[in-house]
Amino acid sequence: MDAKTASPTDAVADSTPAAIFNIERHALHDGPGIRTLVFLKGCPLRCFWCSNPEGQLRRTELMFTANKCGSSGRCVGACPEDAIAWTPGEKPVIDRELCTVCAGCVTACPNGAFETVGKDYTAREVLAEVEKDYIFYRSSSGGVTVSGGEPMVQYKFIAELFELCREHGIATAIETCGYVPWSHYEAVIPYLDHVLIDVKHTDPEVHYEGTGVDPARIQDNVRCLARTGIPMIVRVPVITGFNDSPEHMRDLADFIVDAGVTEIHLLPYHSLGEVKYAGLFRDYPAEGTRPPSAERMRELLQILLDAGLTASIEV
Ligand code: SF4
Ligand code: SF4
Repeated sequence: MDAKTASPTDAVADSTPAAIFNIERHALHDGPGIRTLVFLKGCPLRCFWCSNPEGQLRRTELMFTANKCGSSGRCVGACPEDAIAWTPGEKPVIDRELCTVCAGCVTACPNGAFETVGKDYTAREVLAEVEKDYIFYRSSSGGVTVSGGEPMVQYKFIAELFELCREHGIATAIETCGYVPWSHYEAVIPYLDHVLIDVKHTDPEVHYEGTGVDPARIQDNVRCLARTGIPMIVRVPVITGFNDSPEHMRDLADFIVDAGVTEIHLLPYHSLGEVKYAGLFRDYPAEGTRPPSAERMRELLQILLDAGLTASIEV
């Protein structure tokens, strides 16, 4: 899918309860200490390298894992919409236009090849999950991180969840792409302990080409969040041919320093999300993109260190 032609309008604001596609325990890279990651559905961006395509749409989706499929064809008879085409001995092909995500095939498949992605949770239901690892948060200064998708689209849910976390002594963090109105952050800031925010490109045209949106709002939010004094890390996905030139990294370092942020992490592109696109019956927009070399990553890191930033590479 081309970011320029995609229609990033599926995300719905103000949803309580929230649509969640994953809750991952014992995570180590998305905020301090040991964390529980809560992934919310819905994102206003369409980054061509996105490794969480199941987080882009707010609605529940059907996902198919081909290597679990035994080609029994039982799903075909279970589909009330005639959305599944199947030739004996082969894998089924699903017509997304016809599929209503009724989950008939999910129940019918004996191998679990189909699943629905996305389920509504209330803040209290998520708190119950998060509290299971309270002992680890205490011993590691960890907590809960909401991610996505773009979690701040559903900011009222997050404010409610984080207020509950505060009451229960659990530290909070957001992992955000920055592309929501500032008022969304204002609603969450009273209960927020850490911010991880992505910066993808400094040039408006290139940013639009790669993500489908202009970066001005993101840049404004980076500046405003830095002014709150809440501990903050800027994260940069390093995408070969998009934002991995030394010239761009110097521009980016200038912006970060000027915004008052002191810590930055580089995340080299990987193609681990590619299989999910197939499972969602979508083309992989980053087809053919190679990860940046270790040498290039070291070069970019040095530029950030030379700019006086606390910088590291996340792998
Ligand atoms: S989830 Fe979609 S493909 Fe599966 S049975 Fe329902 S309509 Fe058919
Ligand atoms: S901001 Fe994140 S979740 Fe949204 S499209 Fe880009 S990479 Fe995917």
